[in-house]
Amino acid sequence: MDCIFCKIVKKEIPSDIVYEDKKIIAFKSIEPVVPVHLLIIPKKHIPTVDHLEIKDKELIGELFLIAQKIAREQRVSESGYRLIINIGRDAGQTVEHLHLHLLGGKKLPWA
Ligand code: AMP
Ligand code: ZN
Repeated sequence: MDCIFCKIVKKEIPSDIVYEDKKIIAFKSIEPVVPVHLLIIPKKHIPTVDHLEIKDKELIGELFLIAQKIAREQRVSESGYRLIINIGRDAGQTVEHLHLHLLGGKKLPWA
């Protein structure tokens, strides 16, 4: 499958991995927009939130708990951080493999 994040999961292309377990992997964005810009993804290829199924319920819960853990490790829990999921064209989703952006390390403007 021609998905860049699936290739990262399979280590076919390099990435700066900050967390990995059986179902989830997190790595640094190649084009960080803030000092801490990580992408947390399920290893399973799910294109967007719009493609989620009931059976993915636990996986999505884990994604948020891993985000919490990584935010603590990256020392942005106290200062605050933002989790973003872009869905589709109008939101500017460029990679069609569901991913949670973890943004922090500076005061973030709302829009
Ligand atoms: P989105 O616009 O929500 O689809 O976000 C895609 C994110 O993936 C952006 O932050 C990109 O910088 C990032 N990205 C794209 N290709 C790579 C890559 N090969 N390694 C790491 N991050 C990437
Ligand atoms: Zn994929």
